Amino acid sequence: MFDSAPLSEVEAVVDRVESAGGQAFVSRGGQRVVIGVHGDVEQLNLASMRGVAEVARVSEPYTLVSRQNHHSRSSVSVRDVVIGGGEPVLIAGPCAVESFEQTLSAALMAQEAGAKVLRGGAFKPRTSPYAFQGLGEIGLEILAEVRDETGLPVVTEVVDAGDVELVAHYADMLQVGTRNAQNFNLLRRLGEVGKPVLLKRGMSSTIDEWLLAAEYIAQSGNLDIVLCERGIRTFETATRNTLDISAVPIVQNLSHLPVVVDPSHAGGRRDLVVPLTRAAVAVGADGVIVDVHADPGAALCDGPQALIREDLAELAASMRFFHGARAELEFAV
Ligand code: PEP
Ligand code: MN
Repeated sequence: MFDSAPLSEVEAVVDRVESAGGQAFVSRGGQRVVIGVHGDVEQLNLASMRGVAEVARVSEPYTLVSRQNHHSRSSVSVRDVVIGGGEPVLIAGPCAVESFEQTLSAALMAQEAGAKVLRGGAFKPRTSPYAFQGLGEIGLEILAEVRDETGLPVVTEVVDAGDVELVAHYADMLQVGTRNAQNFNLLRRLGEVGKPVLLKRGMSSTIDEWLLAAEYIAQSGNLDIVLCERGIRTFETATRNTLDISAVPIVQNLSHLPVVVDPSHAGGRRDLVVPLTRAAVAVGADGVIVDVHADPGAALCDGPQALIREDLAELAASMRFFHGARAELEFAV
């Protein structure tokens, strides 16, 4: 506030903050009167009050997922697989569950390469209503059967808030897709379900919006959240999306939650998946999630970005190499 602000104006600001349930702390400096405010002050319109010189945010708008109140990085367990804090985890499988055989063959390829979690969509949020929409509950049953066969825990997308319980019944981790990243009803329901959540970044979400989406899940009771950078919309047309690699270290500084990268949906091209994975691991991602298909040409969804067996071997070797290089560097400095 201006130094000239009379006591009544200072008190008016304090009153407004307190009557909205917040806390205000007044301190007088040489030039200014500073009122420190704790709480959600966005709606209070303090800037238009008499005597107020400037309103500036000094802490993050999210608290539960923020690193400010939780300094050490957290990890999330999907059955016995730990994501965060150790070796980057490989999550792999088909974009969409098409049949038992197709899902099992992709899962075995993934497992052979060292994948620890199986991905696969039963409910598919497709841009076109004419595209394959997924097998629904039959797809969930197939995922559970393939889990029984391979021992791999399963992550699958839930598209509709009304399906959260159904999907949670079958899956070990629930995925929120980019198109649902700000579906606040869905996010709240996922807070109540007692299963870990893989939260993709909205294709046009800022990092703050992404972390606020995570805060919705945390606020309704679930802190087992893994964030997933999957590329954002830019003017570039050479790739499906633009992988925002800088988001990984930025988010790891802002939030204690693990962060994985989806190079398949970011690049949208098979030839980019291994190079983008290298970048992800080099920058410190806690894992990657990739699309795999035994016969990408016949895939009902996202064939052009699906990896085959040979690619997976190269991808896994790259992950080990770049993780090792990071460890050596940390040791050396
Ligand atoms: C997916 O992983 O199957 C998917 C649809 O991804 P996204 O929501 O990132 O497009
Ligand atoms: Mn896909």
